[in-house]
Amino acid sequence: MLNSIYIEITDTCNLHCSFCPCGKQSQASTGPSAKARDFMDSALFERCIRQAALHAENVYFHILGEPTLHPGFVHYLKALETTPLKLNLTTNGTTIARVGKHLLQSEALRQVNFSTHAYGELEPAHAEKHLQDVLDFCQMALATRPDLYINLRLWNAGDFPDALRQKEWNQFLITQVTRTFDLDGDTAPDMDHFCSRHKSFPVKGRLYLHQDSRFDWPGFGNENTAGTCHALETHVGILHDGRVVACCLDHEGKITLGDIRKQELDEILKSPLALSMREGFQKRELRHPLCKKCTFCRRFK
Ligand code: SF4
Ligand code: SF4
Repeated sequence: MLNSIYIEITDTCNLHCSFCPCGKQSQASTGPSAKARDFMDSALFERCIRQAALHAENVYFHILGEPTLHPGFVHYLKALETTPLKLNLTTNGTTIARVGKHLLQSEALRQVNFSTHAYGELEPAHAEKHLQDVLDFCQMALATRPDLYINLRLWNAGDFPDALRQKEWNQFLITQVTRTFDLDGDTAPDMDHFCSRHKSFPVKGRLYLHQDSRFDWPGFGNENTAGTCHALETHVGILHDGRVVACCLDHEGKITLGDIRKQELDEILKSPLALSMREGFQKRELRHPLCKKCTFCRRFK
């Protein structure tokens, strides 16, 4: 049994984060490298969740893209309630004022991850408005859905060109969180020194600040054949067009294992490529060319 299946219901996003292939493609959306944006249709979505329910406990609604932009998002939330699957939603939070009440009513919703690091690249007025909407949602959730896990993600630790701007944003966000939830000096998170063993800082109830380093998308590291990965053991992904991929970072389908429109997920998970990769990870061998140039998996010892 897998822990999660990442179902990419759309590869569209309304932000243009510099570190994200989605953001870069969005910026190029009028140029020669423009790529058509797409939404998963409801028949394919239904098939994905019926198949996912046989193999996993949880789903996410992204690989790339902002899932709440899907016109059928609220219907998809409802459809999940007809399965035993739980949703861990990762969202940039820019639509939370619109979709928040539907989320809080959803029995399928287990966790919400807000990519609040994305606001560090926005105009301050927009960033502050989005953060306020997210904090309003958190307050409502604490009052009405204390069972819900919420992470305010700051996945922007590390050295990169706009790291200073990100640090200033983090400081602003922590100040707002401290004020909103009446944290005192002792309970306020200290995020000055990133430690890979201490990433989660409790705020209130099941609300957390979650810090991590900015990761690189696979395919750009120096070639390395030794290593392991949790892909195929804990999770797989399904792109918005039905291609099943080994991991939640393979947004281009470079490790396509099969097609959920034509095959059962069970058959795809037992395909020769999937079996070989899984065996390789167990033996600490990175067998696929994309994995050999992946730096993300180097965090798995
Ligand atoms: S908000 Fe998320 S999906 Fe959208 S551009 Fe930024 S990182 Fe990519
Ligand atoms: S090693 Fe990297 S590219 Fe390969 S499955 Fe894992 S995360 Fe994906």
